[in-house]
Amino acid sequence: MTQPALDLVIAALERIREKNDRAPRASRTALARLQDAPVAPSLREAYTSPTEQQLQAARNKADLLAAIRERVAACTKCAHLACSRTQTVFGVGNPDADLMFIGEAPGADEDQQGEPFVGRAGQLLTRILKAMNFAREDVYIANILKCRPDMPAGSFGNRPPTPAEMQTCRPYLLEQIDIIQPSVLVALGAVAVEGLLGMRAAMRDLRGRWHTYNNIPLMITYHPAYLLRNQAPSEKRKVWEDMLLVMERLERPITERQRNYFL
Ligand code: SF4
Repeated sequence: MTQPALDLVIAALERIREKNDRAPRASRTALARLQDAPVAPSLREAYTSPTEQQLQAARNKADLLAAIRERVAACTKCAHLACSRTQTVFGVGNPDADLMFIGEAPGADEDQQGEPFVGRAGQLLTRILKAMNFAREDVYIANILKCRPDMPAGSFGNRPPTPAEMQTCRPYLLEQIDIIQPSVLVALGAVAVEGLLGMRAAMRDLRGRWHTYNNIPLMITYHPAYLLRNQAPSEKRKVWEDMLLVMERLERPITERQRNYFL
């Protein structure tokens, strides 16, 4: 599989900037020519493989996260959820991710598989990531609550977590954020916002602009499950516009095609 040469050139320019503390220049014409040019695998390897330092940081973070994962797996702070869960759902992805997504709580599919965002909403999130040029393994995905909110016997579907449940479980998420130290956080939906920031507000007032959590830029957008319920192109476009802001913040290259994209 080939990767546009432009991505590699941008990666190389960013490295030069990091080392020299000044911005290198490239003409628009040159960049435009590189837009569709494929690149040899050996060159791609040289410019995109992580450094030894980055690998070591990821290994350290993975060890720290594994220790919390163990504590979560044995957690019974919410006795009713510890009884009803199939398993805890800790989080998944790159321990050294620049981008971290936060959802509300595991649903039935997540409870069965032990991984967040694997149901229909999760598949939509994976598609959004792909449109942003991310794989699921590139980012980190976690929920406010690590156990599926219990449902009355014989009933189907999911219920949102209660404020008390979120408050009890929240410290685990904060530890995860503290270790991963992402450059950007994305909260998916009003429940995630309430769990993370402890505030309630209408999503139309929260989304589409930058907030902060612990000095980390935080983008708030609709939960993918909302987009499954409300298929209006205007709502999908809003989420995509929020993701464009995230890409800009992360200084990711954005193509014209991506700018005009609708989910
Ligand atoms: S929801 Fe969180 S705090 Fe409650 S039992 Fe599960 S892991 Fe523990």
